[in-house]
Amino acid sequence: MDKGNDMNLQNFIRSSERAVRESEEPETFQNMNATALYCPRCKEAVPVRKHLLLILPEGEKYEYRCAFCAESVGTQINRQERPATLIL
Ligand SMILES: [Zn+2]
Repeated sequence: MDKGNDMNLQNFIRSSERAVRESEEPETFQNMNATALYCPRCKEAVPVRKHLLLILPEGEKYEYRCAFCAESVGTQINRQERPATLIL
């Protein structure tokens, strides 16, 4: 029974991740606040808040945190699509 539950959980997490990726269209990305991800601490899918974590050469790294307990539930790099023509 436990194995069956784990399988369901894995499938659930995967489908949540897929839903996040599919909603990442550039023009709507800023409005993506209704995302729900699985929180290991709350043990359920929770609404998440997006925090800017780092600014990297390849883009801005965001962290998703549980809206209830602030546990980190995932990160994402929002890659910059600009040409590398920076001249100092
Ligand atoms: Zn939580």
